[in-house]
Amino acid sequence: MTAAPQPHRAPLMSLDNALSEVLGRVTPLVRTESVATFDADHRVLSTDLVSALHVPPQDNSSMDGYAVRVADVSAKGVVLPVSQRIAAGHAAQPLQPGTCARIFTGAPMPAGADAVVMQEDTREVGGDLHAAHIDAVPAPGQWVRRAGEDVTRGAVVLPRGTRLSPASLGLAAGIGMAHLTVMARPRVALFSTGDELVMPGEVAPEAMKPGAIYNSNRFFLRTLLLRLGCEVSDLGIVPDQRDLTLAALKTAADHHDLILTSGGVSVGEEDHIKPAVQQLGSLDLWQIAMKPGKPFAYGTVRRDAGAGTDAAQPCHFIGLPGNPVSSFVTFLLLVRPFLLKLQGAPVPAWQPVMLPAHFDLPRADKRREFLRVRRNAAGGLDLFPNQSSGVLTSAVWGDGLVDNPAGHTIAHGDTVAYFPFADLLA
Ligand code: AMP
Ligand code: MG
Repeated sequence: MTAAPQPHRAPLMSLDNALSEVLGRVTPLVRTESVATFDADHRVLSTDLVSALHVPPQDNSSMDGYAVRVADVSAKGVVLPVSQRIAAGHAAQPLQPGTCARIFTGAPMPAGADAVVMQEDTREVGGDLHAAHIDAVPAPGQWVRRAGEDVTRGAVVLPRGTRLSPASLGLAAGIGMAHLTVMARPRVALFSTGDELVMPGEVAPEAMKPGAIYNSNRFFLRTLLLRLGCEVSDLGIVPDQRDLTLAALKTAADHHDLILTSGGVSVGEEDHIKPAVQQLGSLDLWQIAMKPGKPFAYGTVRRDAGAGTDAAQPCHFIGLPGNPVSSFVTFLLLVRPFLLKLQGAPVPAWQPVMLPAHFDLPRADKRREFLRVRRNAAGGLDLFPNQSSGVLTSAVWGDGLVDNPAGHTIAHGDTVAYFPFADLLA
C-alpha cells in the first residue's frame, strides 16, 4: 500500500534567514536633525563626536587634602607651611618649594606640586591654615587626576551610529555639547486589524459584545516603537475588509518609512493584509519557522508619484501576527533589529546567557521555540505553565525567552540559551 500523496508545502523560512533577508532590504535613513542633548536619549548619532578639549581640562585633585612636592616629604611627620588654599573652580598659583597647598576634590593642581596627601593622613598645625603635619609619604602622582585621562582633545568620544544612553549623554555634555546631530526618527504607521477589536475606554468590560476583545497589541507595539525613537502615526483599528485595508496601506505608504500592522496575515478568508500588500507592492517574505510568531510578513508598498522625494523608494511593510505573544516576540527579534538598522545603529548580535532549566519540556516542537521563562533565586529558569501565543500574562510574568531549537526536548537541569527581555528591549 502506498501513502496518499501529500500536498506540497514549501518549508518555512528559518528565523536567521528571515532576519538577514529583512536586514538586507534596509538602507539607513539619510535624514538627520539637531536635538538638545537633554532630549537625545535613545537617539542615534549621525556624525562622530570629536572632543575640542581634554577632560578633565587640567590636572586636579581627587581628594580633599594637601598638594605637595614629593621631594619635600621624604619621611612621615614633616611639617609644611600652607602657602595657599585651592577650592574647586578656582585658579591655583605655582607651589612654592618647601610649602604645601590646602586643596579640595576637583581643584586644579598648583604647578610644581606632584602629589596630594589626603586629609585623613594629615593634621593641622597652629590653626587658621598655618601649617600641616604630613603623616604619610606620598608616591608621585598620588590622588592626582591627570588632564585628559578621561578624554583627550581631538579624540572621537562617541562614533557615528552610537545609540545614546544616559552615560553617553553625560559624556557628550562633558565635552561641551548642548545639541547633537542625530538620525531622524523613523516614521512608522501602526495599525491593528480585526473586527473583534475594541478600544479600552470606548466600551466598558460589562458592555462587551460576544466575541469582542480589547486591543492589546496596539498598546505594546506603540510603546516599543516609541522606545526605539520612532515617530508613530497610530492609525487605529482597520476592519477586516479588503477595500479598507487597501486604502489604509495606500495612504500610510506615502508619508512613512514603515507600515507596521498586527493581525490579518494568516491564511483565513478574513486575513486581508497579505493580498492587499501583494496588490500594492510586493510581499517578499511570509511565515517563519518559529513559535510563537509563524505568521510574520515583510514586503513593500509603492508610494504615489506625488509623495515627494521619497516616491522613488517604496515604503517598508511588516505584518505581525495577531496573537499578542507572537506579535511581541516577533517585534523583539525582527522589527527591533530592522528599526536599529534603519536608524544607522549597529544591530547587536544576540548573546544568550547559558542557564540551567528548572523545568521539563518533554514534547519537542518542529519549529524553533521561544519560551517565556523567569530566572529564579537558585540561578535557574522557571517556565510559565501556559505557553499559548494568546496568553500575554506569560510575557509579563517572564523576564526573558529560552531559545529552544526545533525538535529539542528539555529535561530539568539541561543548559539552555536564555535572552533577558532587558537586553531585547534595551
Ligand atoms: P489574526 O492574526 O488576525 O488571525 O489574529 C490571531 C489572534 O490574535 C485572534 O485570536 C485575534 O483575536 C487576536 N488578536 C488580533 N489582533 C489583536 C490585538 N490587536 N490585540 C489582541 N488580540 C489580537
Ligand atoms: Mg484577524
